[in-house]
Amino acid sequence: MTDKKLIYLDNNATTAVAPEVFEAMRPYFCEQYGNPGSIHAFGGSIMSKIEHARAQVSALIGATRKDRHDKFTEVIFTSCGTESDNTAINSALQVCHKKKKVIMSAVEHPAVFSLGKDLEKRGYPVSYVPVDSHGALDMERYEEMIDTETAIVSIMWANNETGNIYPVEKCAEIAHRYGALFHTDAVQTIGKIPCNMADSQIDMLSLSGHKLHAPKGVGALYLRRGVRFRPVQIGGHQERGRRAGTENVASIIGLGKAAELAMRSMEEKNTRIKALRDRLERGLCENIPKTKVFGDIKNRLPNTTLIGFESIEGESILMMMDCFGICASSGSACTTGSLEPSHVLRAMGIPDAIAHGAIRFSLSVYNTQEEIDFVIKEMPAIIAHLRKISEGIEH
Ligand code: PLP
Repeated sequence: MTDKKLIYLDNNATTAVAPEVFEAMRPYFCEQYGNPGSIHAFGGSIMSKIEHARAQVSALIGATRKDRHDKFTEVIFTSCGTESDNTAINSALQVCHKKKKVIMSAVEHPAVFSLGKDLEKRGYPVSYVPVDSHGALDMERYEEMIDTETAIVSIMWANNETGNIYPVEKCAEIAHRYGALFHTDAVQTIGKIPCNMADSQIDMLSLSGHKLHAPKGVGALYLRRGVRFRPVQIGGHQERGRRAGTENVASIIGLGKAAELAMRSMEEKNTRIKALRDRLERGLCENIPKTKVFGDIKNRLPNTTLIGFESIEGESILMMMDCFGICASSGSACTTGSLEPSHVLRAMGIPDAIAHGAIRFSLSVYNTQEEIDFVIKEMPAIIAHLRKISEGIEH
């Protein structure tokens, strides 16, 4: 318990702002603080910086279409991934007002899943596509659920807990066959794996700055050119009237820079991150009995592993890991005073005894082999200690 150096393996929760991003943002607080909507040059000139950031984000997601003024118009800046998700689904329900049906997967992030539950309360029929024990989407059930009454299908590109990657292009193609719009929550994918919206059938896509080394409080919604849209936030004319509110200038510029950085040698970075993730997974599973990796091992994000440690609570594991300076997440959440496995693990049918002890490790480009080896060295004793306590309690 002596080494308190922080080992941050919770990058699906949030990431460090890259130093280059921070530097790019710095002038926009105390020096270039004008309002981009102003007539005077002090404010107005900042609009071109926002457009540059839009071009950078568009490049990252391959949204190459421009308007007749040579401007990228398919990226709308928002305040976060949650806002983008909510906007996409609510907009679709408004533009297709005669259709009411919504389809989403059973493993969506609460930014989509809780909206689904809320829409149900407001009288919308919402269907949840089930997954199998590896978290793979039941495509047959999806095809059975969809019909011409469906307004919007929202299927996440990658799951935040398991890292599973979903066949969103195929899902979009099926949605279009029935005249429905298709949205994907790509908050965990953008910046991590390649994306090319120019060749895609996806109508709307959400991303979030703080998952790709930009600051918290900025996100974007990709809206394919020609897709009908109804703004949710009404007010001024910002973002071409599609998202009112004075722009979060510094953060938008930060997101642009982060997008540029994410594109640089993505494949090389992924090879390194995946090697570290695999080393961690192997090291833990080989040295700790009764462990299990959840998810679709062959088809997941390179930075994520969700490991179940049988017969102990994830929260206790996290607390002990914290004493060693190791940060990760658990697959459980505290609801009404008791720990409940996440709806994702429940949807996968994972028995509670093992789901309770699920820990998500999510890496970034800043992790080192030394850190991974430290975790591999310390975890067996942590788990053994907690299992002993839990056996003591049971006897
Ligand atoms: N969607 C997914 C898959 C996420 O992982 C998250 C955040 O963890 C969100 C949406 C919400 O993003 P934000 O925190 O930017 O609102």
